[in-house]
Amino acid sequence: MSGRVSGPGGSESANKADPLLSQIPVRLAAPDISPWLNGGPLRGVQSFTGSEPGPHVAITALIHGNEIGGAILLDRWLREGLRPARGRLSLIFANIDAFARFDPNDPTQSRYLDEDMNRVWDPARLAAPMRSIEARRARELRPLIDTVDLLLDLHSMLWQRRALFITGVSDKARDLALKLGTPPLVVADEGHANGRRLVDYPRFSAPDSDKIGLLVEAGLHWEPSTIETMEAAATAMLRESGIMPEGWGKDFPPSEPPRLARVTRTVVAVSHRFGFLGPYCGGEVIPRRNTLIALDGEEEIRTPHDNCLLVMPSLRVMRGHTAVRLARFES
Ligand SMILES: [Zn+2]
Repeated sequence: MSGRVSGPGGSESANKADPLLSQIPVRLAAPDISPWLNGGPLRGVQSFTGSEPGPHVAITALIHGNEIGGAILLDRWLREGLRPARGRLSLIFANIDAFARFDPNDPTQSRYLDEDMNRVWDPARLAAPMRSIEARRARELRPLIDTVDLLLDLHSMLWQRRALFITGVSDKARDLALKLGTPPLVVADEGHANGRRLVDYPRFSAPDSDKIGLLVEAGLHWEPSTIETMEAAATAMLRESGIMPEGWGKDFPPSEPPRLARVTRTVVAVSHRFGFLGPYCGGEVIPRRNTLIALDGEEEIRTPHDNCLLVMPSLRVMRGHTAVRLARFES
């Protein structure tokens, strides 16, 4: 087992005592979002209506309380007085209770308080009595989400620098992400075994729905470049929606042609001893099929096909959680 790069341990909720986590710098400062907590339709939601009819577009930040880049972008846009010309624009600070605990000296701890807010978006679950802070907040936001036509959910990553869109199962989300083109990598997947993400909520994921939910993983959690990637994606989405005034927004030329990768296998850790065999942090393409990339206890994890893209490996994975997604490029 000595060849493993990562050994047993907690998840992102591990703390600074973890030597691997303690090497991750925090180069962003958490914004003061207190001006945006009240005065909107819901706590932590600001919503603006244009003078002409149009779709309801929403941008969510802080579904994970420690992913502060999205909050920095929304705070800046709100201070600048961002307003739609048509339709409606809602800017949502989601898990504000977890965000309130953000500590740059222990930045992984505030991802959530009781449970991952991006695993609770199942209608049956949302309708049931709920005690977790995240499930209660999701239930509070749900009536607003139920009016959204187009959603962009801003996220960032602990290990992976290369940004990507995640579309879930929706062909419409896939097509939109490829059209936006920034970031150029688009990953279609089927979500997580342990709960639905916001983009998997049926309003966005049902085959007969014309609503679109798109998630962007914009780079490392606490790097300034991540905010720029979020702004590029959100600007492209807002322009495409048609709700903004003519000529609004900075130009972000695409860095390369967009590419679609479809997840072929979601690797869930079945043991307490999952470890990768190389210094993978995501975005790598493994050329040869059957390459050994990780050990899960005694089980070997191998690439199922040539040119296998590693999507968001977790170097600190708990049993029962997603360790990495493996994807194949499609033309
Ligand atoms: Zn996230």
